[in-house]
Amino acid sequence: MEDNKDKKQNITPETEDIKGKEIKQGEEDIIIEKVNADGTTQPLETGAPNPLEQEPKDILTMALVGDVRIYVARTTNLVREAAKRHGTSHLATAALGRAMTGAALLAATMKNKECVSLNFKGDGPIGGVVADAEGCNCCGYVGNPDVFLPPKNGHLDVGGAVGRGTLQVIRYSQNGKPFTGAAPLVDGEIANDLTHYLYSSEQTPSSVALGVRVNVDGEVVAAGGWFIQALPGCSDEVLEALDKNVRQTPYVSDLLDMGYMPSGIIKLLSKGLKYKLLDTIPLQFRCHCSREKVEGMMATLKPEDLEDLAKDPVTEIQCHFCNEKYKFTSDEMKAMAAKVREAKNAKK
Ligand SMILES: [Zn+2]
Repeated sequence: MEDNKDKKQNITPETEDIKGKEIKQGEEDIIIEKVNADGTTQPLETGAPNPLEQEPKDILTMALVGDVRIYVARTTNLVREAAKRHGTSHLATAALGRAMTGAALLAATMKNKECVSLNFKGDGPIGGVVADAEGCNCCGYVGNPDVFLPPKNGHLDVGGAVGRGTLQVIRYSQNGKPFTGAAPLVDGEIANDLTHYLYSSEQTPSSVALGVRVNVDGEVVAAGGWFIQALPGCSDEVLEALDKNVRQTPYVSDLLDMGYMPSGIIKLLSKGLKYKLLDTIPLQFRCHCSREKVEGMMATLKPEDLEDLAKDPVTEIQCHFCNEKYKFTSDEMKAMAAKVREAKNAKK
């Protein structure tokens, strides 16, 4: 992280030389407004510090350019935590980090902060990638955390690891049935698969970029992504301008590694356009599991199966999503078996 800080200091606010490309910022026609909770707006000075951006924490910033949503997330810390919890290889870290970031961006579009679950079911050696996000919380896992493939064109071969198959997306709603959609994987690189899914299954034209940078030691140096979604009635000029900007914008992981925060990336993506910053939310790795949920899940087992488990001094149940271990003693298992048997008899 030390060299990250150094890089940050070298960035001048007005002009930045990124991989030989010069990107000028601070166009005069850019108006930045902050929308207050009551719907009123207040102008923000260009580059005004956002209190949530003082420290490089994981955040997701939402903005509107006309009728186009631009959501940008920095997920470095939460991807790092996922990698640590699952002991993932470089390649598995990249796949899981991209999927978790994609889930966080999609979850931010849910009105009531409901859960979004992405399941990349491919035939590649990673054995599937699953990522869930709900409001500020993300978690996920891969089938084979040790997956290794030689790099492809100098990049981690996420597409090769995921393989061919299907992306299944479940959007949970607060009061109703979950919405499940699916689309074939395009290249297994996660971002393209998500873009294709949104277009083909949800009829939403969008552009998704996801990136995870891992150093030689396997440490996550930078992770994040952006999600650009055209809302109904958006103008072609805005879309064309955004498309041009997207093509000129460097990799999202490169920008984050340079010290850019989401609002700075929004500024790059909306170059020459008016945009409104809507909200910034913190993001973190947090699983939806709990001891109570595990107990509830075990209560659905047959009493004889629970009695069987009670023969072991300790029964350990591990959560796929976060690797947390929940331990139950033989006596606890016996008590649970008795309770389940009692409930079963009462039903008769
Ligand atoms: Zn968990």
